[in-house]
Amino acid sequence: MFPDSQSRSAALFDRARAVQPGANTRHMITFAPYVIYAERGNGCRVTDVDGNVYIDWVNNFSTNIHGYGYPPIVEAIKAQAERMLCCILPTEAEIALSEIIVERWPGIDQVRFTNSGTEAVMVAVKAARAITGRSKIAKTEGGYHGQFDLVEASFLPTPANWGPEDRPAAPPLGHGTPQSLLDEAVIVPFNAVDATLARLEEEKDALAAVIIDPIPARLGFAPASQAYLTALRRFCTENGIVLIFDEVFCGRAGYHGAQGRLGVLPDLTALGKIIGGGLPIGAVGGTKEAMAIFDNLAGPLKMSHSGTFTGNPMSMVAGIAAMRGLTPEVFARLEAQGESLRRGLMERMAAFGLDMRANGLASMTSLQFFSEPADNYREFHNRSGDAYLDRMRRLHRDMLNEGLLMATRGLMVGSTAMTDADIDETLARAEIALQAFAQ
Ligand code: PLP
Repeated sequence: MFPDSQSRSAALFDRARAVQPGANTRHMITFAPYVIYAERGNGCRVTDVDGNVYIDWVNNFSTNIHGYGYPPIVEAIKAQAERMLCCILPTEAEIALSEIIVERWPGIDQVRFTNSGTEAVMVAVKAARAITGRSKIAKTEGGYHGQFDLVEASFLPTPANWGPEDRPAAPPLGHGTPQSLLDEAVIVPFNAVDATLARLEEEKDALAAVIIDPIPARLGFAPASQAYLTALRRFCTENGIVLIFDEVFCGRAGYHGAQGRLGVLPDLTALGKIIGGGLPIGAVGGTKEAMAIFDNLAGPLKMSHSGTFTGNPMSMVAGIAAMRGLTPEVFARLEAQGESLRRGLMERMAAFGLDMRANGLASMTSLQFFSEPADNYREFHNRSGDAYLDRMRRLHRDMLNEGLLMATRGLMVGSTAMTDADIDETLARAEIALQAFAQ
């Protein structure tokens, strides 16, 4: 049972704290009093260092879309490790993974690789600035785009710092963000067409890009409306602004990514997570016209993009194996399982009188402490209430104690390693967890 002060995880946590602030290299993996440490994974299950087994509904924040030990990925990695880990020369695998991405994402004609989703967003922003010669970047309120300070502006704002609804402020996430950087961020309210267009109109001559995650995890996977995306697309086209979709997470929305599902195409797309099959990766893709900025064969350097590990063959071969295993039929099965999970959780929440919701789309689910869907950041924040973190801490613990690993903000993402029996088992375990939570 978590917490257990005698556990091996608790001892490792104490040991880690001496040499690692926060006792690991991430943020909010499990709630206090200690971090749970992993031993191994198998299929859709993870065993921790104390021998507790969990059905893994985090899947390393989505990267492990085939769970653990998926044979095509394991074999591809082993074979590549014997050939070479990495080399200054590119490999055919880099071309093959590019071809798969180009075939699937309708807004992508060409691709460049990075080492993470954060880096993909950074490079997309840099490209937009190089293309337009302008500097400001518009993003939606509360949007998460990775770990760098410009896009951390207005990530998790609160009523104390979020400013007027139609003209949101750009508060920093943590300490140390220069005001000059925050001044480059224009924050627009998610899904509010008129207010967003009015704000963009004021800034249009300075705007290099509008970046949006069209199905944001931090909003419980409430998608941007068709009207909103169409309005952004039109405004960007008319004003020579680069429209960037951040599909690092929501790229798993279907065979043709989020853009294929939602039917609006950006100029540049940031990808990551599933396209690396569990190894570090990111990518920037886009139209031929937008991607021409990277083409340094064509003349003098327009922008620099490189990196010691970009396009490294280990990530490339793992990504190829992962993507080949994701056929349209496999996506359909993942989606059906996601729907069963959400339906089953909602039934149980209702049965225990919980004012909660299992929101989501495709294989992406978010547990929320309100029952009507929220489709913008402020609504989500206000309905979650002041007790949100406290309640999430309890729910997370109750789920862990029934052998269910979910993210500390209530996210649950599926994997192809899950059978229908695993979904049933999850629901049976969640029933006990929700009952405990309801008391
Ligand atoms: N963008 C979105 C929408 C994400 O969800 C994430 C990661 O969760 C990132 C960017 C950053 O990707 P990475 O963690 O690979 O740097």
